[in-house]
Amino acid sequence: MSPAEPTPARRTRLVVLAGPTAVGKGTVAAAVRDLHPDVWISVSATTRAPRPGEVDGVHYRFVSEAEFDALVEAGEMLEWAVVHGAARYGTPRGPVEEALGAGRPSMLEIDLQGARQVRATMPDALFVFLKPPSWEELVRRLVGRGTETAEQRERRLVTAREELAAEPEFDVTIVNHEVHAAAHDLVTLMMLDPSNNPND
Ligand code: 5GP
Repeated sequence: MSPAEPTPARRTRLVVLAGPTAVGKGTVAAAVRDLHPDVWISVSATTRAPRPGEVDGVHYRFVSEAEFDALVEAGEMLEWAVVHGAARYGTPRGPVEEALGAGRPSMLEIDLQGARQVRATMPDALFVFLKPPSWEELVRRLVGRGTETAEQRERRLVTAREELAAEPEFDVTIVNHEVHAAAHDLVTLMMLDPSNNPND
């Protein structure tokens, strides 16, 4: 290659952020984006209805059950799962491959079932577990956000107990004491990763 040609970007290592329900994964991911706009964060497809203020293509790709089926059948989902016994959520494969191939620090924010699927297909990814400071704090956050009925909350708490036990499956744990501190820890981790440092 002549010196005038640009060096092709090195493929980066995917970061997978998972953790129990209500730990604040979505909020931390949004704070990461604010802190470091170069970080690429996957937009998941989901069959759930948009909440007020959510924008199609920004927060999620809101799709019908049939559209979701078609994506799965076409092999276009890197992973997918039914979350909280309700809607389906999945990571479209193409954009992830594109971001990694372009050498961008890249992240998925998904549930534990999805993280396990990615572990099986992309074992080189970095798996980060976001953990609440305590069980009491997790319950407080779940009740505090007020987006679930009492029955849904109960079910999520049962799931959360199981999910908390999965911490040893992860490469790194970040405790979400405070959203900006957790986002900062995550960005630091991503930027220290040798695969994100082409000059190393
Ligand atoms: P919410 O409906 O509150 O936005 O998200 C519910 C849950 O779905 C969260 O735990 C979130 O991490 C998870 N989730 C969001 N996108 C995906 C995805 O693409 N795949 C999987 N497996 N879970 C997802």
